Amino acid sequence: MGNADNTSVNRESLFIGGRWVAPLQGASFDVVEAATEKVLGTVAMAGVGDIDAAVAAAREALRGPWAALGNSERADLLDRFAAALKSRGRETAALVSRENGMPISLSGSVNGFGPSVMVSYYASLIRNAPTEDVRPSAFGGRTVVRNEPVGVVAAITPWNYPQPLAAMKIAPALAAGCTVVLKPAPETALDAYAFAEAAEEAGLPAGVLNVVPAGREAGAYLVEHPGVDKVAFTGSTVAGRAIGEVCGRLLRPVTLELGGKSAAIVADDADLSIFAAGLLGVSLVNNGQTCHASTRILAPRSRYDAVVEAVTETVRALRVGDPLEKSTQIGPLVSAAQRDRVLGYVEDGRSAGYRITTGGAAPADQPIGWFVEPTVFEGVDNAARIAQEEIFGPVLTITPYGDEAEAVAIANDSEYGLGGTVWTSDEEHGLALASQIHSGTVGVNHYELDLAAPFGGVKASGLGRELGPEGLRPYYSAKSIYLATR
Ligand code: NAD
Repeated sequence: MGNADNTSVNRESLFIGGRWVAPLQGASFDVVEAATEKVLGTVAMAGVGDIDAAVAAAREALRGPWAALGNSERADLLDRFAAALKSRGRETAALVSRENGMPISLSGSVNGFGPSVMVSYYASLIRNAPTEDVRPSAFGGRTVVRNEPVGVVAAITPWNYPQPLAAMKIAPALAAGCTVVLKPAPETALDAYAFAEAAEEAGLPAGVLNVVPAGREAGAYLVEHPGVDKVAFTGSTVAGRAIGEVCGRLLRPVTLELGGKSAAIVADDADLSIFAAGLLGVSLVNNGQTCHASTRILAPRSRYDAVVEAVTETVRALRVGDPLEKSTQIGPLVSAAQRDRVLGYVEDGRSAGYRITTGGAAPADQPIGWFVEPTVFEGVDNAARIAQEEIFGPVLTITPYGDEAEAVAIANDSEYGLGGTVWTSDEEHGLALASQIHSGTVGVNHYELDLAAPFGGVKASGLGRELGPEGLRPYYSAKSIYLATR
């Protein structure tokens, strides 16, 4: 299973300053395949000296040819970068599925095509955009307002959607004229090399993009590095808080895309067949390893049994198996630790007395690979641990509500505020409900990230936004130059 071609992929070098270099300490780590538990490849591990070199290369590139390029020339280079990413898309998508267990049907679009589409999008945004405007000053004279790149960006990414989450940072950063040091998560370090190869093939100037796989200590070192001007982080809320504290002390701009525990409000007038058809993509996407997943299902008491039945039947019918099989809907989790963590939450829900309507264990017929049966708990109090904490696996809770005011109150009774969905046969009703949810994004009868619209969270789900024109702004620093003459 999983290891379709039995190839292992070793990466002995880091990509620093446009060159493939061995790590100074000669360290490496293994990436293990989620479905087979076998080593998929060995990857060079950056230490502090390598991080120093990567930041120095990024700073050098900032002063060099990259800074001298106009927007349209930079857009041309980004289009070449996008084409080079696209040509690697199929291979990259399969690699990510092997690393983290994401079903290939999803990985093909999000990991295979997502990065090239994002890079092209930001290239198109800047191509004809002015970098400055001149304003008549209210007090006489004129003011030139210039968008300057904020500088060297430390991009730190998690393992669940490694390619698009890196591209959400790299694409706007490069479009703005910044340079980047990418530190991918160790679990998915192999696929990060697609960015390095594509940068090289596209002819991005040396040092514009550097790739340094490493663990969290090196990540923390990078965040504090005096040569870094901005941090862009996606990952857990725990790590985000630690990074936010450091950036606060350093007064360093930071974007934080963190955890979530979003609600799906099934309204009285919802079409349950539409809800059931959307459930996998909205609530269990990527085996539940999705920050914006609507994992808390809120069902009206008037239709409670029908909702429980629809959810249970849909989840029970999901095909669990080899992530490289096109028909697979739920693959394994990323690691043994993640599987054990998820099963720990299942045990917690069970011992708290909540009824499991389907799932509830590791599948007996999948002894190899870090699988967890898709699991549904019903009758769950929203105060329960399984309704409050991010499980990050294929586990859903169903909570009954009386009227919609109560549904909204339950949806908002969360530390997080990243996603959410409302299900109704009346879109106006959906919009009205969506506007009451305290969250950065909400879907009506579906949930689909829009490249051209901002994505991000409120409360413990983070700070700042990625994607859309809003995702470009954090990579600029505005400078006003006051001229005496009119
Ligand atoms: P994690 O926070 O453990 O690690 C994420 C990345 O940060 C890794 O590269 C890791 O090495 C690095 N890191 C960890 N601690 C660090 C520190 N103190 N300083 C610098 N770098 C550090 O998260 P994970 O387990 O890899 O990913 C899962 C989490 O990511 C979930 O909580 C999920 O909700 C969240 N996530 C959020 C979004 C979003 O857009 N809001 C998207 C995907 C995942």
